[in-house]
Amino acid sequence: MNRILITGGAGFLGSHLCEFLLEKEADVICVDNFFSGSKDNIRHLFSQPYFELIRHDIIHPLFVEVDKIFHLACPASPIHYQYNAIKTIKTSVMGTINMLGLAKRTKARILLASSSEIYGDAKIHPQLESYWGNVNPIGLRSCYDEGKRVAETLMMDYHRQNKVDVRIVRIFNTYGPRMAINDGRVVSNFIVQALRNEPLAIYGDGNQTRSFCYVSDLIQGLIAIMESNDFIGPMNLGNPAECTILDLAKKIIALTKSSSKIIHKPLPLDDPVRRRPDISLAKEKIGWMPETELEKGLLKTIDYFKRMVKP
Ligand code: NAD
Ligand code: UDP
Repeated sequence: MNRILITGGAGFLGSHLCEFLLEKEADVICVDNFFSGSKDNIRHLFSQPYFELIRHDIIHPLFVEVDKIFHLACPASPIHYQYNAIKTIKTSVMGTINMLGLAKRTKARILLASSSEIYGDAKIHPQLESYWGNVNPIGLRSCYDEGKRVAETLMMDYHRQNKVDVRIVRIFNTYGPRMAINDGRVVSNFIVQALRNEPLAIYGDGNQTRSFCYVSDLIQGLIAIMESNDFIGPMNLGNPAECTILDLAKKIIALTKSSSKIIHKPLPLDDPVRRRPDISLAKEKIGWMPETELEKGLLKTIDYFKRMVKP
């Protein structure tokens, strides 16, 4: 039986991954410090005999015996990762070194959940893996962006120097059930605001774009590259359907049948203008492409938040 470690397993993506792997009869060890994740996300897994939860902060070394590591631990929303920027960098740098050390000792394959943020405010569109990015190294987002860039560097150096079996994926905006209500990312913010009939706050004029991937599609992609024996990445994973933030707001108001209005607030510094993944590599190397249309994924996410949000 495969012993699989998931760092950040109590978070949004990690909890879906724990669930998926348990269904495939893996032996799952979930490690989390509950900074942005929650026991509520994994409570339904506690009764499963092959699920183990360890409360642990990955900036400290971890000693377990495993075959595979999905390394997801890192706060992902700007509110969370800017709350303690230095801790975010420590998580990306020291945490990734610790997980790579563990992978080296146990000869486990390790996958890093990197991010489209490593492209920064991209000067090419859509973003291809060969693009090196346009990141402000000293701005408010750099604790996350540069943290992920160093994490990628560490992955490649451990691979070249110590023959660690690595996989790197660059995840583009992903949404779905179990995003935290206070997460601060756009999909959960807009849905919560619409369900409460409060104004939807668009930062800036709303013409900036993002490409939204539904969580179950993303999980399929993570599994496919982890299982692939001939490509280590970096590989973009995301949905190439691009949408302006204004259109997203209108869509969510319509789908929730909300009476909310749209208001505008100042655009945060260094907010990327356009973002869309080129996923040719994922199609070619692992035969992956997302299947869930935005409207369908939003409806499932709205259903989840209806149970979480008090009007
Ligand atoms: P999330 O905040 O819900 O999950 C992150 C998890 O990591 C949380 O459970 C948190 O408590 C845990 N964590 C944070 N620091 C830790 C530490 N020092 N030690 C142990 N656990 C720690 O975010 P998510 O959306 O599930 O993102 C998961 C991963 O995917 C992150 O690495 C993120 O950067 C990456 N990613 C996500 C997206 C997205 O759109 N969801 C996009 C790009 C990249
Ligand atoms: N955004 C917004 N209202 C919100 C939250 C975010 O208009 O309540 C905007 C944000 O400025 C950005 C886009 O939506 O242009 C996506 O933001 P998010 O934080 O979800 O992800 P990221 O910027 O990291 O892609």
